[in-house]
Amino acid sequence: MAHDEFAIIEQYFTAIGDSSDDVLLAVGDDAAVVELAPGQQLVISMDTLVGGVHFPVDTNPADIAYKSLAVNLSDLAAMAASPAWFLLSLTLPGNDSRWLSAFASSLRQTADDFKLPLIGGDTCRGELSITVQIAGTVPAGQYVTRQHAKPGDLILVSGELGNAGLGLALKQGRLDLPQDLQTHCLLALNRPQPRLELIPFLREFASAAIDISDGLQGDLAHVLKASHCGAMISRDSIPVNSWIRQQQAYQYALGAGDDYEICCCLPARHRGEIENWNLEHPACRLTVIGEITESGYFLRQGEDLVDLGNAQGYQHFD
Ligand code: ADP
Ligand code: MG
Repeated sequence: MAHDEFAIIEQYFTAIGDSSDDVLLAVGDDAAVVELAPGQQLVISMDTLVGGVHFPVDTNPADIAYKSLAVNLSDLAAMAASPAWFLLSLTLPGNDSRWLSAFASSLRQTADDFKLPLIGGDTCRGELSITVQIAGTVPAGQYVTRQHAKPGDLILVSGELGNAGLGLALKQGRLDLPQDLQTHCLLALNRPQPRLELIPFLREFASAAIDISDGLQGDLAHVLKASHCGAMISRDSIPVNSWIRQQQAYQYALGAGDDYEICCCLPARHRGEIENWNLEHPACRLTVIGEITESGYFLRQGEDLVDLGNAQGYQHFD
């Protein structure tokens, strides 16, 4: 759709997000040019949402736009990098102006809210797919990876786990929930809050971090593999809503994806910082769920120990 393409870009995807001083050239040339402040490193990530795989094709385009940015912001938060710019690659089945205006206006709103300028992208025709590439900055050496958890470190998670998984089950008619919880879980699914507020905390105290996109069980396994460690976590410590607790439906917290909370590891000497954090950030509480060990991966469940050693998150190629 060569002709349409330029019209679409011009109509919907120019001047999105703050035009900050560090953007020398944005949408419209062969490439974008940005200025990196001295002493900063660039942290880059990309996530694709495919219609029918990551979201039902009839999902509200405003929610799709929000989420395509939110999941990328969450990756940068997990690296302790401050989001700076993004690019958008859009594959569209056609030129559906209703869909495009709803998508673009939500993208604009979200980009404004997060002060994130859109500096370029690509537009083509095909099955609906949205790829966002995000770039952020971090003072040299202060990024946090999955690699440096050590035995004795505390394992923490932010917020509550399992709500997005419940939201999806609800939407797919696999589950019924009390009314107030329905709204809460659908919001968690459609409007996950990237935990950007944790960036300074992670830079200062965390030995390792990951964002929980595929479920705690599998995502923590990635940290353990990268750090060559084990873990012991306690099921009853996992922060969940009262319904999951009552129904003992912890599989939503452990195995369902899309929560976009942060799981991080903290040398035990920083334990006191957790309480300080929670006093100041009641909307982004950190909860200790266990400890890094030398080896093995276990869930304590009352008297029982469940071996999570073969844990897998959601896998696209199963
Ligand atoms: P090229 O032919 O050089 O690949 P394009 O025609 O794909 O260039 O894009 C023209 C300009 O529009 C580029 O600056 C590109 O970054 C930008 N662009 C294309 N699609 C999008 C989009 N969906 N969102 C933002 N910018 C886009
Ligand atoms: Mg192109």
